[in-house]
Amino acid sequence: MATTSNSLPSAFDAHHRPSTDIIDKCVHCGFCLPACPTYILWGQEMDSPRGRIYLMKLAAEGAAEITPSWVSHFDRCLGCMACMSACPSGVDYGKLIEATRAQIERNFKRPSGEKRHRHFLFKTFTRPDRLHRLRTPLLAYQKSGLQAIVRGFGLVKLLPKKWQTMEALLPKLTPREAVPEVTPAAGNKRRRVGLLLGCVQREFLSQVNAATARVLAAEGCEVVAPQVQTCCGALLVHAGEEAAAIELAKKTIDAFEQANVEAVVTNAAGCGSNVKEYGHLLRDDPQYAERAQRFAANCKDISEVLMELEPHCERHPLKLRVAFHDSCHLLHAQGIRSQPRVLLSGVPGLELAEIPESAICCGSAGIYNLVEPDAAESLGDRKANLISQLKPDVVVTGNPGCILQLQAALARRHQKTPVIHTIELLDASLRGQPFDALR
Ligand code: SF4
Ligand code: SF4
Repeated sequence: MATTSNSLPSAFDAHHRPSTDIIDKCVHCGFCLPACPTYILWGQEMDSPRGRIYLMKLAAEGAAEITPSWVSHFDRCLGCMACMSACPSGVDYGKLIEATRAQIERNFKRPSGEKRHRHFLFKTFTRPDRLHRLRTPLLAYQKSGLQAIVRGFGLVKLLPKKWQTMEALLPKLTPREAVPEVTPAAGNKRRRVGLLLGCVQREFLSQVNAATARVLAAEGCEVVAPQVQTCCGALLVHAGEEAAAIELAKKTIDAFEQANVEAVVTNAAGCGSNVKEYGHLLRDDPQYAERAQRFAANCKDISEVLMELEPHCERHPLKLRVAFHDSCHLLHAQGIRSQPRVLLSGVPGLELAEIPESAICCGSAGIYNLVEPDAAESLGDRKANLISQLKPDVVVTGNPGCILQLQAALARRHQKTPVIHTIELLDASLRGQPFDALR
């Protein structure tokens, strides 16, 4: 890595540099190292949180430049925030990596192929309308038997690795279950809540949104799902695309302000952690700064909302051994650990099995498995191996990215254990639906 004298100007531009106050809070103790998935994989200091913070410090002081090698250490970071949970000094690594990635996207010229790939991902996965149009050809690909042929004959291996990964992550598409603009509360209305629909989830895992609306309605919530809502910008903000993320954040706030709801419910951990940080993202905007703070304070994961509501509905038994997978953006970014476990434990007959290394990422991490497929695959395989040892009937988690990543990792082991969202299991219990109906 090229270094220059300390008197040289910072490698960062002046817009929202990674905070030196936060950088200086790091006392280099190393407690975060065993919690960091990339340090676990490669054992390299510069691929650990402490090493990355040091690289930020060097660049901030003009002692390092934004070179391909420097950037690679930040590209390899999953943004899983496990280091924040492990850090005794309270270093807010989330703010540092977000600012660093925005600096990279503004000040570093990525190779053209990589740039095109990232552009394609952002222009596809943040656009529900485009994902919707992809459903028909993808359904045809699956229903015609072409997918089985492509996979069976190993033809997928002829594709570049990044496209192989995308094919492997494609879930089995089912008829789309749209959530209406308003779902009335069953019985006495206890609350009026908004529902953030997400992008991939809206089109490819729509049963999760449908289950969320049903459970909320059954528990006395009127559910408003504004049809005008766009992507919340989570993928963009986590990848350093700050300007585009800000535009989507404003549109999301506008949509839910008009819906006049008491709380906005999220059921995708990555989206949830993003909308809870809108106050920070929009801090410079005179028209939105205060509104963003208010909006963020009213955003809640579905597990938080259900824990606040005293349960009114009967939980029917589900005799299942369930492995619960902590999504990093629930556990580390939102501090949500007990709520989904308590909800699942409330289902009679359900046996909860804890996955070892529960704080370590499965390798999904937004677009990480699409831009860093080898590292993501290693982490997915590690997680799938630990899950297999538990011999669960089903794996349950709170994030669509983790669902797709774990399904693909289990499939590589030829295991057919279903992976579903926590709310789908709860919905099945409330409806007295047999578990097989979820497969
Ligand atoms: S966010 Fe995750 S991958 Fe990145 S430094 Fe922290 S623990 Fe490591
Ligand atoms: S645990 Fe916190 S203070 Fe210690 S090295 Fe990691 S980031 Fe720095």
